[in-house]
Order: sequence, then structure tokens, then C-alpha cells
Amino acid sequence: MNTDTDRSTTVHDVVIVGSGVAGLSAAVYAARADLEPIVLEGPEPGGQLTLTTEVENYLGFPEGVGGMELIQNGKDQAERFGAEFVHGTVEDAALDERPFELVLSNGDRLRTRALIVATGASARWVGAENEDELMGYGLSTCATCDGAFHRGDDVLVIGGGDSAMEEALFLAKFADSVTIVHRRDELRASDIMAQRAREHETIDFRWNTELLEIHGSQEEGVTGATLVRHPEGHPKDKLDDGLEVEREEVDVGGIFYGVGHVPNTDFLADTAIDRDDDGYLLTSEGMTTETAVEGVFGAGDVMDPKYRQAITAAGTGSMAALDAETWLDERAAERDAAPVAELEADD
Ligand SMILES: Cc1cc2nc3c(=O)[nH]c(=O)nc-3n(C[C@H](O)[C@H](O)[C@H](O)COP(=O)(O)OP(=O)(O)OC[C@H]3O[C@@H](n4cnc5c(N)ncnc54)[C@H](O)[C@@H]3O)c2cc1C
Repeated sequence: MNTDTDRSTTVHDVVIVGSGVAGLSAAVYAARADLEPIVLEGPEPGGQLTLTTEVENYLGFPEGVGGMELIQNGKDQAERFGAEFVHGTVEDAALDERPFELVLSNGDRLRTRALIVATGASARWVGAENEDELMGYGLSTCATCDGAFHRGDDVLVIGGGDSAMEEALFLAKFADSVTIVHRRDELRASDIMAQRAREHETIDFRWNTELLEIHGSQEEGVTGATLVRHPEGHPKDKLDDGLEVEREEVDVGGIFYGVGHVPNTDFLADTAIDRDDDGYLLTSEGMTTETAVEGVFGAGDVMDPKYRQAITAAGTGSMAALDAETWLDERAAERDAAPVAELEADD
């Protein structure tokens, strides 16, 4: 096993950035292929699934499985085959020379022939009181994941863009009522999505309104919320100025944030990796995880603004490891065939 000091001089075959379900799945595949992957755990070891209590839609668990349990099992599985987990967050990546070099926030450096980026996309939170405590206990950022837990509930959706409309329309299949809480007096959503939400008989709107506080506990889940309304909107950040606002206490069984996601790709900003306007990794067309830089592969939510599910993240994680393995094999074959002078110039 490498020590901290020799990790900066060793050239690894594969480094996987991110230890969510995509990174873990990539680690299992890469480790079973004897690539001895290093997995950088990042600021949120285990990723988003550690924020949720129960996962009911991951294949193979007919009774459901706890988010933490699923992640711990994945980590144990990857370690069993030789993956090494390292605490560390990548701050910078030099991808224009080979081997690639990653700079971590503590100053450590890692060198690798192939790189798998599985850094996820973080859901935006709105800063309401108690959100840290109740995320995963009736507060969620994913209607597809947690909507079915709210059959017969009254629920709130926070936001005014397409994400919020999608969440609301999905939740309307289960919940008794869905109230969209939006801090402006008009939606940012596309016309078609706004129209669908407006025309839905169980979806209602609260305009110029923000979520101030979430009520409940981890034992009983979300039980209600305090909303603040001001005719001009955006009241929350002006409450300290003594602004007159209407406060309303509502009883609800669930709250969903639909204010978008931010893919964690800032550390790639100065590289030749292509990203879309929102920062999501762009991969080559077709069933592949290849990015614009040969030898760098994307997996999971960081390259998927659409599905964002554990099972899809695990799927693309395994694809990225298989793609990396093939790429390393081809490169090794090329190096074996190369004249000595070229070999010396290589890694
Ligand atoms: C509350 C909640 C409930 C959910 N419930 C379900 C569910 O029931 N079913 C389902 O299918 N999906 C569910 N999801 C969605 C699911 O969690 C995600 O689709 C999945 O976690 C994506 O996996 P990922 O590995 O791509 O990214 P993530 O899980 O986001 O993991 C990203 C990883 O990258 C690391 N990282 C980030 N930046 C850096 C960096 N610069 N350097 C190093 N590491 C970094 C992080 O520390 C983390 O380990 C839920 C999500 C949430 C938030």
C-alpha cells in the first residue's frame, strides 16, 4: 500500500474522484481489473445517498435499503478487491501533460494515467432553518426518489423554474396537495412546464413567498413550515430590517427543494474538458463515458443532468471503469510497440 509521501511520486493507473455511488461502482470494476484504483472521497464521503434514510428503487433490495448501508456495502466491496480510499478534495487538475496531475486542497499531489471524474452534482439548498437536521427526514431534493413516501400528504415544492415544476408534477401523483412556493410573482419555468403545473388540479401556488423554517424532527419527520410573504418578494434577507411581512404556518408532511443542481466541476475549469453551460461534463456521443481529454472519463450525476438516480450513477460508474481499462490496455499496447526513444518521452 502507498504511503502519503510516495503517492505523489507513484503514477497510478486510475484515480477516481468522488466516493458516491458512481465512484464506488467504478472502484469495484477497476479494482477487479487489478488496476488498484485510488478513490478520492471528497468533501462528502459516500456522496448524496448518505443524506437519505431509505432507498426503495435500487435494484436487488426488495425491502429497501438505508442510504448509508448501501454506500458502506459498496465501499467494503471495492476495498475487498483492492481499491484504496483516500481523504482528499481535488482543487486543481493538470490534464495537458501525461501522466495527469491532481492537486488536493491540502497541497498533496497525485499522478495518474487514467482519471474518472465522479464528483456528482450538489442540489442547491435554500437556507431555511432546520434544513440540515431534516434533509432525508421528509425534506428532500429528489421527488423521483422520495415522492412515493408522501402518498396522501400535503407537500411543498420550493422554486419557480423547470426543476420545481417537474418535482411538483411528479409529486402530484402521490400527494393530496402540492403547493409551489416561489419567491417571485412569476415563474422562470418554460411556458409548457408552467402551463402543465398551473392546469393541474392539485397544484397550488404561493407567490412572493419564501420558506423560513421547517418544523419537525428526525423521529416524526417534517410536520410543517413557516412561510414569509411580502408583496415585493425576497422578504427573507430583509427580515432583520424590520420589514413588514406576512408569516404563515402550514402543516405539511414533506418539503421538496426544486432550485436546481450544481455539478462539481470547478476544478476542471482550466482544462480542455468540455462542459455544458451549467457545468455538466460533456461526454462523447453514444454509449460512452469518454470526455474531450483522452484518458479522462465521466460518471454519475456530474455528467447527467437528466436522470440523477443511484442506479444510473452506478451504471455509468461501471462504464467509466470499463472504458478506462480498455483505454489503458490500448495505450499499453501502443507503448509496447513504440520505439525506445518514444517510450522514454512517455510516462
Ligand atoms: C436526499 C436525497 C435522496 C435521494 N434518494 C435517492 C433514492 O431513493 N434513489 C435513487 O436512485 N437516488 C436517490 N438520490 C439521488 C442519488 O443520491 C444520486 O443520483 C447519486 O448519489 C449520484 O451519485 P454520484 O456518485 O454521481 O454523485 P454523489 O453521490 O453526489 O457523489 C459525489 C462524490 O464526489 C465527491 N466530490 C465532489 N467534489 C469533489 C472534489 N473536488 N474532489 C474530490 N471529490 C469530490 C463527493 O465528496 C462525493 O463523494 C437521492 C439524492 C438525495 C440528495
